[in-house]
Amino acid sequence: MLTLALSKGRIYEEALGLLARIGIAPTVDPDQSRKLALPTNREDLQLLVIRASDVPTYVEYGAADLGIAGKDVLVEYEAEGLYEPLDLGIARCRLMTAGKPGLAPRRGRLRVATKYVKTAHRFFAARGVQADIIKLYGSMELAPLVGLADCIVDLVDTGGTLRANGLEPKELIMEVSSRLIVNKAAMKMKHGAITAFIEEIKRALAKTAG
Ligand code: AMP
Repeated sequence: MLTLALSKGRIYEEALGLLARIGIAPTVDPDQSRKLALPTNREDLQLLVIRASDVPTYVEYGAADLGIAGKDVLVEYEAEGLYEPLDLGIARCRLMTAGKPGLAPRRGRLRVATKYVKTAHRFFAARGVQADIIKLYGSMELAPLVGLADCIVDLVDTGGTLRANGLEPKELIMEVSSRLIVNKAAMKMKHGAITAFIEEIKRALAKTAG
């Protein structure tokens, strides 16, 4: 049995399209069910639908053999004990700083609201900017509007969410796409099944590219 962990939302929707191309489909719709472990039409594969930031943890500890996680989450988690064999090219977006339009007046330390605490800290430290990072779990766009922070670090796709909240993207921190990750021990113990799965996905990706 192989277990693949992934998160609900954009990654789930796009990963499902990719899995469908290699003939895999869950037999339970997570929107219609409270099940978090979803069987698929392949007896030897189940999906775990969990929070995006928990995917590396499940895979690192071997609770899932494989996972699909955004590069943003992998960089923030500083995952060790994981292989990252494939860029799936799905759920593409950019991790950016954003704030109110125009040059923000800088009075001393910059206050940055984000859920990407470590990544934001590294980004500002590398530029010699003294920043206080304020950890939030969601709705980052609100923070500059209510004076909680000077700017935010968050994912940007179309920019619509920023615009709707009177903010603009500023600096690119990294391009993000979802990666296939694999538990190192599982790669040894279930080598045949896992490499076969990776090859199938690779072929599906190559077909799309070609
Ligand atoms: P947008 O309005 O299209 O720029 O999308 C921005 C919102 O969607 C923000 O709340 C982001 O956190 C979220 N978002 C954008 N891209 C992704 C992604 N690939 N995975 C998860 N969340 C995303």
